[in-house]
Amino acid sequence: MYTIEIPLPGNPLKALNSYVIKGTDRNLIIDTGFNRNECFEAMQAGLKEIGVDLDRTDIFLTHLHADHTGLVSRLAAKDSIVYFNEPDLTDSKSGWDKMLAYAVANGFPEDQLEAAFKNHPGYKYSPEKMPDYTILKDNDKLDIGAYHFTCIQTPGHTRGHMCLYDSAKRLFIAGDHILNDITPNIACFSEYGDPLQDYLNSLNRIEKLDIDLVLPGHRSLINNHRARIEELKIHHNQRVNEILEILKNGPKHAFRIASLMKWNITYKSWDMFPVSQKWFATGEAITHLRFLCMLICYYPVFFPHRIFEEYLYLTQDFYKNSLILQMHFSG
Ligand SMILES: [Zn+2]
Repeated sequence: MYTIEIPLPGNPLKALNSYVIKGTDRNLIIDTGFNRNECFEAMQAGLKEIGVDLDRTDIFLTHLHADHTGLVSRLAAKDSIVYFNEPDLTDSKSGWDKMLAYAVANGFPEDQLEAAFKNHPGYKYSPEKMPDYTILKDNDKLDIGAYHFTCIQTPGHTRGHMCLYDSAKRLFIAGDHILNDITPNIACFSEYGDPLQDYLNSLNRIEKLDIDLVLPGHRSLINNHRARIEELKIHHNQRVNEILEILKNGPKHAFRIASLMKWNITYKSWDMFPVSQKWFATGEAITHLRFLCMLICYYPVFFPHRIFEEYLYLTQDFYKNSLILQMHFSG
């Protein structure tokens, strides 16, 4: 197996790790990079160096984001099988309108909306056309060369995010489910679902697997997946508590909350954030608020005030019950 580092110019992620397996019959590329020439050239140079012929190559996409899928239609040959998952395929077809309306309902300024989606990598660098996908489901098997993978669906980062696990080799191809140097963005721009709970469930599932090496979609490899998973859980627990702290001073919508949260990027103030970063931050804030809402709905007995409208009524009264969050996380 080979890694081709695909640069993502101007993006805080810096680069994508594309993994390439040379098989006897067919090869497999796992994730592609953006649909832009810098990525295409790096991919072509990498494939040439390791001697991979695209006519005998299939493609596996861990999830729908453009840094993972963008080049798929430029790389897929006539007979290539392109593996994808059903929830992400559905979401990749479902336009921007509902997401944008939901962002506005959560306080995202309307005058920044157009800039937000025109600067969004999903708008700029998605595949120009969709190939015919072969859909893989949780627990499906995928054999390529010396590797025998089981598909492990890990919803959270996206609804259908799919990892590959070779139990004999104790090898886990993680996409953006577990990253080492940065925390995967868990964003929500829909009135449905609880992506953070999904993500925590997926982390719990992976934690149980025997893994010696995690190959993530970005940055460095992970040798101790259980330690990293623990850090990711603590990170989200801190985020939830940070939001409760912010809400102690009265109700706020997600955009305002995001502006008051601490972000690990180097801009002097929220106003200096690029609009695309404000977008991702707002999505993260909504995710954590949704998680809190679901928790309160699920354990109403612990919370003196039922909420009647999403998180607008989360106030300091709830803060005293943060013990419940701890319980929920350890489960
Ligand atoms: Zn992603």
